[in-house]
Amino acid sequence: MAKELYDLGEMPPLGEIPEKMHAWLIRAERFGKPTEAFQQEVVNVPPIADDEVLVYVMAAGINYNNVWAGLGIPVNVIGARNKAGEPEDFHIGGSDASGIVYKVGKDVTHVKVGDEVVVHCGTWDRNCPWVKNGGDPMYSPTFRIWGYETNYGSFAQFTKVQAQQCMPKPKHMNWEEAAAYVLVAATAWRMLHGWGANAVKKGDVALIWGGAGGLGSMAIQIVKAAGATPIAMVSGEDKFDYCMKLGAKGCINRNEFDHWGMLPHWKDSVGYAKWLKGVRAFGAKIWEVLGEKRAPNIVFEHPGETTIPTSIFVCDTGGMVVVCAGTTGYNATVDLRYLWMRQKRLQGSHFANAEQSYQMNELALRGLLDPCLSRAFTYAELPVAHQLMHDNKHPHGNMSVLVGATQFGQGASGQPPVHVEHPILPKGDIHTTPHPYPMSEPLPGIAEAEAITIADDGTRVKDLMHRGIIACGPDDTVAQVAKLMIDKEIHAVVVMDGGKATGVVSQTDLVLARQGRSPEEARALLAGAIMTPGCATCDAEMLLSEAVSLMTGRRMHRLVVTENDQPTGVISMTDVVRKLIGA
Ligand code: NAP
Repeated sequence: MAKELYDLGEMPPLGEIPEKMHAWLIRAERFGKPTEAFQQEVVNVPPIADDEVLVYVMAAGINYNNVWAGLGIPVNVIGARNKAGEPEDFHIGGSDASGIVYKVGKDVTHVKVGDEVVVHCGTWDRNCPWVKNGGDPMYSPTFRIWGYETNYGSFAQFTKVQAQQCMPKPKHMNWEEAAAYVLVAATAWRMLHGWGANAVKKGDVALIWGGAGGLGSMAIQIVKAAGATPIAMVSGEDKFDYCMKLGAKGCINRNEFDHWGMLPHWKDSVGYAKWLKGVRAFGAKIWEVLGEKRAPNIVFEHPGETTIPTSIFVCDTGGMVVVCAGTTGYNATVDLRYLWMRQKRLQGSHFANAEQSYQMNELALRGLLDPCLSRAFTYAELPVAHQLMHDNKHPHGNMSVLVGATQFGQGASGQPPVHVEHPILPKGDIHTTPHPYPMSEPLPGIAEAEAITIADDGTRVKDLMHRGIIACGPDDTVAQVAKLMIDKEIHAVVVMDGGKATGVVSQTDLVLARQGRSPEEARALLAGAIMTPGCATCDAEMLLSEAVSLMTGRRMHRLVVTENDQPTGVISMTDVVRKLIGA
């Protein structure tokens, strides 16, 4: 007679589904750090739909998503699913797995009970009209990441997946290796192969950020397998050997350069020239490492804010910067002149569809993709593995945890088709950049606009503004304007012409006017020539929060306040700071 529950590591006879299973559960009442959020419980094995499969999990991969799921931020994944009609008041995470098929739904044809599989994490409703019409499921509104946005991920004896998620397990990999690579490798595959004319091809050069990281280590191998040349970016020479063994032609230590960050303003000729010097030296380094004067056809991006300006600059004419994350920040500054004149492409990319996942997996089956497993954990250590990630103290490379497998090293049943030598991962656990929220966080769209709540205490511009405008004329000299600023202890002067505010001269404008000129030349310039034309205004009745958004959006520190369309005062960030600290 079938048992109701099997112990961990006690494998049920093939195809026998017990009523209950062991699992690591997250519940809303214990949202918090991983060692508290994850608890072992026994739950019912879920029923499956006609296109679904139950996989007996041998090992599961560890990803950031479930650190965030455990914290309950930025979304309460349990609450979100309950709202959508799913009844379970818990979350079983896990978006990477290796295991054995134990049950298939009646419409399933491409896997059968007993197949050894790895699982990709892309799910969608097969009845979605977009998907039915042959559209890329990655664009379907029904797309969900299994084990994060869906329940019953791989941190349990059985996981519920769509049949299309199952791919053959590479025979030469043990269970924990096979559970480690799919999420990162499929993401890297779509980035490199998914974008038409810009897909990586033989002879191309690809610059890969974070070459020793999860995505980067996969990207190096995928680029190499395409017959192209990978150049790896890393933060220390201790990672060079690892990237070279994975197939990089050469490596660059990003700490040898210091021009990172958002672009200086294009009007800031000194700052821009300094940036240009830095980025050109970086470009020359790429030539040196390559051994020829060539620009990368593809730049593989995920750091985002601090590196995008450089990536766009060094990318070849007609090339592509492809980005799947903004680990250092989301505001990408781009010098559009380089984008349009050299006709480069800045392409966003997110996970992968089934076809792309299968193509990636072919590489793994052929022995051409090392899973870059840095550390495997026992089932009991699952919260510890997540805690290391939470604390940014996890080792470089990919991590996994045993579930059904009783010991490390089990599950390999063959030799790889080609000889593979596992490169030794760099020892350090220093991560300079904490992980941001998962990218599957719902992004507000047009339809959600009304649901967005704006926190505001009701303060209006008129409550804080400085009345009276300190102004100059367009023909006043910079020397006069500077004196006015110093005498009145203000940061900007409004330029009035014929009773109308036509521009603003700010401290920044004065400083920029001095660039490349002697003090005398700068002092002789006219306000009208150096002002920032147009005058950003707000009405005195405007909410202070709206005025602040206007300023941050335009990167300015003050607005001219109007009443009945006449300028009557100024509101500045300094006024807002005063209000915030309660003075
Ligand atoms: P990872 O293993 O932590 O590697 C990231 C690498 O980025 C690090 O090894 C680091 O290498 C490099 N790095 C850190 N700070 C940097 C900086 N300031 N400038 C340049 N490089 C920097 O993470 P991962 O698994 O590769 O994932 C990378 C990002 O992609 C994450 O934000 C992740 O959430 C996202 N992701 C997105 C998808 C998707 O489908 N959209 C899928 C997977 C991952 P060095 O210190 O050696 O330079």
